[in-house]
Amino acid sequence: MIGCSCYVCSSQNDQDKRLRSSILVESDSTTLVVDTTPDFRTQMLRENVKKLDAVLFTHPHKDHIAGLDDIKAYNFFQNKPMDIYANAITQEGLKREFFYIFADKKYPGVPSVNMHTISDETFLVGDIPVTPILVYHLKMPVLGFRFGSFTYITDANRIDASEKQKIIGSDTMVVNALRKKPHISHFTLQEAIDLVNELQIPNAYFTHISHQLGTHHEIEAELPPGMHLAYDGLKLKFFH
Ligand SMILES: [Zn+2]
Ligand SMILES: [Zn+2]
Ligand SMILES: [Zn+2]
Repeated sequence: MIGCSCYVCSSQNDQDKRLRSSILVESDSTTLVVDTTPDFRTQMLRENVKKLDAVLFTHPHKDHIAGLDDIKAYNFFQNKPMDIYANAITQEGLKREFFYIFADKKYPGVPSVNMHTISDETFLVGDIPVTPILVYHLKMPVLGFRFGSFTYITDANRIDASEKQKIIGSDTMVVNALRKKPHISHFTLQEAIDLVNELQIPNAYFTHISHQLGTHHEIEAELPPGMHLAYDGLKLKFFH
């Protein structure tokens, strides 16, 4: 955190150097990211991502959309608009924050997007099946996504029983766990652990971590079997 000199922010362990939360999902033919954080450009450069087919958005908070402008590099090299997928409230947020992308008369060189509306149906991005999962971030509806045996949920603190059914059977889940102290719109570490146990997910990784949670080593040592803290650059293999 900017300006903070706590022991987590001063840790020299790379696993304690956390950019904003996002994932990249890749099959042999298709590459997508979930959210374009303020760190999107840094993340794409770090991982040397040369091709990007689509962006899926979870919700319109700034830490999940701010990097959208930087998709223009992919527009340039791929010579086409970027396919972006969002629900209605996220589309409103994107149109407000990035008015120039959606303007009738566009300034040359601004990003170009092809907007798709996410309903509650499973859809395909290239050859990757995507099942949206509705979760709540206090009162804001947020989308989680299931890709075959892998589920990604960020920025939630409540999931209805019917949506939990869509997660059950996943082999691996990434879910947000902000800190130990209660928060009005994010799962705490214990709430995230309880959710993983309730849904009987064999492999879980916690993300969207605050410096208030503690260091990677410290928390990793406390977690039950099958549960881990995610870290920047973590790679997982799964099959759909
Ligand atoms: Zn700190
Ligand atoms: Zn949020
Ligand atoms: Zn967030």
